[in-house]
Amino acid sequence: MNDPFTGPRARAVRPGEHPAWDEALALVNRDLAALLPGRGPLRLLALPSDADAEWEPAERVYVALPDGRRHGDHLDHASRTDPADALASVADAAQDTVLGCLWQVWPVCAEHRLGMHPGRDDDDRVMWECAGGRTPQDPAHVRAIGGLG
Ligand SMILES: [Zn+2]
Repeated sequence: MNDPFTGPRARAVRPGEHPAWDEALALVNRDLAALLPGRGPLRLLALPSDADAEWEPAERVYVALPDGRRHGDHLDHASRTDPADALASVADAAQDTVLGCLWQVWPVCAEHRLGMHPGRDDDDRVMWECAGGRTPQDPAHVRAIGGLG
């Protein structure tokens, strides 16, 4: 079996190629290590885009497990230049890969035992949102991405 990170079609994204995605993945990997130790760290895997359109990027970048397995959609290419967009895109893709390859709901809110999903708070910061706190008495339950440990 080809190593997906050194195979003919796929390659590991080098540190610094997409700094906003690197930073986002570092935060997401902290939460993965905190809640699912030994499963990460997740990595960025680039695959050639098969699309012919000129406006398509030549490569698509996925969030993959250490062994190269991945699930779900590639990162939104436009998100690579904006830290908040990058974090939202990477967190979403990481969640898809963990769920699709490891059959783990992650991250799970420790208080409500519900899966959390990336969303934006009132200040437009990208956070893990838990549906458990959404009642008038208990404002939206959110946690900083990278702060679950
Ligand atoms: Zn919660």
